[in-house]
Amino acid sequence: MMALLLVVSLGVFAYSARRRWLLMTIGSTPGPDDIADPDRRMGLMMRLAFGQQRLRRYQPAGFAHMAIFFGFLVLLLRSLILFARGFTTDPDFGYWLFDHGSALGNVYGLIKDIYIVLVVVGALIFLYLRLVNKTKRMTQSSEAVGILVIIVVMMIADVLYDGAVTVQRAGGADITFSIWEPLGTLAALGVMQHVGESANTFLMHCGFWAHVVLVLLFLNMLPFTKHFHVITAIPNVYLADLKPAGKLRTIDDLEGRVEREETLGVRRIDQLGWKAILDLYSCTECGRCTDQCPANRTGKKLSPKQLTINLRNFLYQHEPLLIRQADNGDDKAAHRVDLVPAVIDEESLWACTTCGACETECPVLIGYVDTIVDLRRHLVMERGEYPAPLQEAYTGLEVTGSPYSVDASQRLEWAEGLDVPVRSEIENGDDLEVLLWVGCAPAADERSRNTARAVAQLLNAAGVKWAVLGPEEQCTGDVARRSGNEYLFQILAQANIEVLNGYGTKRILTICPHCFNTLKHEYPDFGGSYEVLHHTEYLARLVTEGRLKITQPVEDQSVVYHDSCYLGRYNDIYDSPRDLLRKVPGLTVLEANASRDRGMCCGAGGGQMFKEEEQGSERVNIARTEQLLATGAGTIATACPFCTRMLSDGLNEKERAEDVSQRDIAEILLEAVG
Ligand code: SF4
Ligand code: SF4
Repeated sequence: MMALLLVVSLGVFAYSARRRWLLMTIGSTPGPDDIADPDRRMGLMMRLAFGQQRLRRYQPAGFAHMAIFFGFLVLLLRSLILFARGFTTDPDFGYWLFDHGSALGNVYGLIKDIYIVLVVVGALIFLYLRLVNKTKRMTQSSEAVGILVIIVVMMIADVLYDGAVTVQRAGGADITFSIWEPLGTLAALGVMQHVGESANTFLMHCGFWAHVVLVLLFLNMLPFTKHFHVITAIPNVYLADLKPAGKLRTIDDLEGRVEREETLGVRRIDQLGWKAILDLYSCTECGRCTDQCPANRTGKKLSPKQLTINLRNFLYQHEPLLIRQADNGDDKAAHRVDLVPAVIDEESLWACTTCGACETECPVLIGYVDTIVDLRRHLVMERGEYPAPLQEAYTGLEVTGSPYSVDASQRLEWAEGLDVPVRSEIENGDDLEVLLWVGCAPAADERSRNTARAVAQLLNAAGVKWAVLGPEEQCTGDVARRSGNEYLFQILAQANIEVLNGYGTKRILTICPHCFNTLKHEYPDFGGSYEVLHHTEYLARLVTEGRLKITQPVEDQSVVYHDSCYLGRYNDIYDSPRDLLRKVPGLTVLEANASRDRGMCCGAGGGQMFKEEEQGSERVNIARTEQLLATGAGTIATACPFCTRMLSDGLNEKERAEDVSQRDIAEILLEAVG
């Protein structure tokens, strides 16, 4: 019976698993550049998969998952022992090492029983969250509830079996409680020894076969349910894309692809890479990504979790055809169906701010931003379909090199009256300490202009040897790239790199985190490798070195710092802005409830700054402003021109601009330096 069960169920599982494997190989887009660096990958796997680091951020679900995860690891051995007992008449068999009564067998018996309790508690917590609490982020499905019930029944079956075997072993003698088999002996004492011999034997078989059959049934359900993550999540974490978090995938040989009429970005399901498909298999549908998504939180249609579920459903629906790669001229064939709008509508796609909150939260390291931008790339570069206001930004970038359509000759207007050295006017720039990358905003936006002026004055006050490119600087291309216009981005990147390399630039200081991220992580793909610093890092360094002296305590003030996504989540710069603020006497630094890597986006990234926000219950910048106002701080500090604009607008909208000020950290520091 056991042999038949094992052969049939393992055979069916092997067939299903093979089809999932084949489905992974249909993709034409490569996955991560390479899967080298085993040390880093092992570390990631130990922390995230076995340490369950990210799962712990949501409680009590994190505890419940840890209990079930470790319980499954422990009980795997138990299932293997029960499979083997199907081939022997020895009820004590445990692969010799773990036989009942042996030292290891005793220790294992105790650990197993502790985990049986923990697994039941974990499953009950999940049942409570799903059925009673109806936690919004979780997908409410009978499948998930059914699996939890199976888990609980499996645990009860195991205890039943142990109890019945304990009675049989005793053979009528007195049974005593054993610490090495607590649940089994308790079940024997409390129930099994009172039911009579034949009922006991019957219950022993029920417990045994229930455990075995349910394990094998569960195994065969995996490839067809979200619980496939039980198998794929750990490899998915190990194989995670290790490129810098803020770096988008580069489309190589763009012009060649255009000439060869190849798809730019992702249009159809078979253009997803193998890693993107492994991501789909690994999603647990926990909804943490959607719960943190600023677009979804403000009532937009975008839900990263739903995007994954839709892609996965689409993939599975078309599995036979995709594996055969047969076409037969059928227009509904999966590899002819455009993913937009088949799995995601345009409105949802354009609502993404590329803030990375979903990726930071996902416990199994599923990537979203590359996929979303790849879908946008196809829309923008091939279908010419994108929100109308973006056209204005694209035209500005093409004609003037600025999304604000600011002419090169106006790029230095912000510096009027200040001593701002221009690189082209410096003959020998070898002794320059930094090249200040001003960015496009100061030439167009009064608020950013003040920030640039503050940075310039601080650099002069510290005696730094610096310069700007002035009219030779163009937009880094961040807006174009993240909104899907890779073509325009690459043109801008190449032009900037030519200028930067022409001057032999080594170290760049940026005011804008978006420029920082692009110059630091994305320009190396095009031959531009520099040391790139953000102004909060560099100014903190100047203060520490004593080159900038804080002499003017500010009046007793409280300040809350808003983390820019491209500085914090993407580049892990959380402390230097806060350290700088803490160095100013008289300033009390407060934290918003949502801060650091849980800080909410201001709503401007991913091209949003240059288009209308999608319909929702609230604007993202208003929601973020409300969170910051809730701290009661008198000042909202920022370190990004986009955040500065969005939060200033938020304060105006909330009619709080009179009593709460909004300033870049450089402006605050300038005042403190006097
Ligand atoms: S990147 Fe941000 S806005 Fe886009 S889906 Fe993820 S959480 Fe939502
Ligand atoms: S993508 Fe990650 S965070 Fe989102 S539902 Fe799936 S597993 Fe959870």
